[in-house]
Amino acid sequence: MKRPSLYFTDDHDLFRQSVRQFIEKEVVPHTEAWETARRIPLSVFGRMGELGFLGLPYAEAYGGSGADFWFSVVFLEELARCGMGGFVTAVSVHEYMAINHIAKAGSDDLKARYLAPAIAGQKVAALAISEPDTGSDVSSIRSTAIKDGDHYIINGAKTFISNGTYGDFVTLTVKTRPEGGANGVSLIVVDLDSPGITRTKLNKMGWHSSDTAEIRFDDVRVPVENLIGVENSGFYYLMESLQLERLVAAIMAVSGAEVALDWTLDYLNEREAFGKKIGKFQAIRHKIADVATEIEMAKQFVHHTCWLFTQGEVVVKECSMAKLYTSEMQKRVIDTCLQFFGGYGFMEDYPICRAYRDARAGTIAGGTSEIMREIIAKIVVDAVAYKPAYA
Ligand SMILES: Cc1cc2nc3c(=O)[nH]c(=O)nc-3n(C[C@H](O)[C@H](O)[C@H](O)COP(=O)(O)OP(=O)(O)OC[C@H]3O[C@@H](n4cnc5c(N)ncnc54)[C@H](O)[C@@H]3O)c2cc1C
Repeated sequence: MKRPSLYFTDDHDLFRQSVRQFIEKEVVPHTEAWETARRIPLSVFGRMGELGFLGLPYAEAYGGSGADFWFSVVFLEELARCGMGGFVTAVSVHEYMAINHIAKAGSDDLKARYLAPAIAGQKVAALAISEPDTGSDVSSIRSTAIKDGDHYIINGAKTFISNGTYGDFVTLTVKTRPEGGANGVSLIVVDLDSPGITRTKLNKMGWHSSDTAEIRFDDVRVPVENLIGVENSGFYYLMESLQLERLVAAIMAVSGAEVALDWTLDYLNEREAFGKKIGKFQAIRHKIADVATEIEMAKQFVHHTCWLFTQGEVVVKECSMAKLYTSEMQKRVIDTCLQFFGGYGFMEDYPICRAYRDARAGTIAGGTSEIMREIIAKIVVDAVAYKPAYA
């Protein structure tokens, strides 16, 4: 029986069914092929664009749906149920971490050239903040964009960039005032086939179907029109948009844990030991009760944070708590679940094995758990307050 929800209407439920169908029919059957290829085919972006999945929160003028945020929540929850962290990363980075900056602060020209084709799935987007020498400490990035007439000349390197080798463009974080610290950071859209760019694919422990790259920029010329918003305001744009990034990560972590629990419940009802289903052993049942409780508590907090987000609140504390708690929870839960698969849990043929590897990235990518604790401590202990940046 359907339970009443504070957040989801019948329309959201219908949309959930259509995303679930797409994932079951057009994604899950390709898991082995995409994981082995270490990437997803570009045609998947095209297909998702066609289905309207890549522009859910964006304006209809650029091909988006202008849908309320709960459609995005549904989409991300269903996406994560595919059990393939790499695919989930490729899509969520494109839609919620790279092009959102253009939608929020980009000019109409940038929106027409980059946002619209990204929503249609014709161009794939990446976001590049991390560098070989600095990740967490964003204000210390060294890549520069120095003005030369009506162009910026970009030099530097970025690493761990999702969608980096096959992506068409990147929302790039650079210093436009190298001595300016946080006040010298800007966001610029760069075509990834520009002369002077070298892309190298990286080998990862998990998230195999995502395409992760190191990208070098040697005297890359980019028109000044490709600047997003106001020069030297990029750090503050990032700090605000990272709340969405963290919320997106939290939504998917909960869903990733939930699907792992579902696989485990099926297995507990199949596997027998000592003459009974292993789901009848109290030692296992109590652990499962703990896991189910953790997931449910996390889900309620994440949904509440989503609601605050839809009210236009600055939710730095809650988004950081959600990212911290859910990514650590997902890791713990999947570890517990894998244990109940016995030896099969260690075999690549079982999705729980991939989920275990994939969950490890959750407490690192998009801001580490240590950095989440730092942010939360600043708010809780030092009473630091955050203001909206885009305004
Ligand atoms: C699979 C994957 C995909 C990624 N995709 C992208 C992407 O698309 N775009 C992008 O820009 N980046 C991406 N990243 C990079 C990711 O965001 C960074 O790895 C992360 O922010 C940490 O930065 P770092 O690796 O440089 O670690 P560092 O910042 O060097 O940190 C190293 C260790 O020190 C700890 N530490 C650092 N500062 C503090 C502090 N103040 N207090 C306590 N501990 C601290 C960290 O928590 C960590 O444990 C990705 C990473 C991975 C693994």
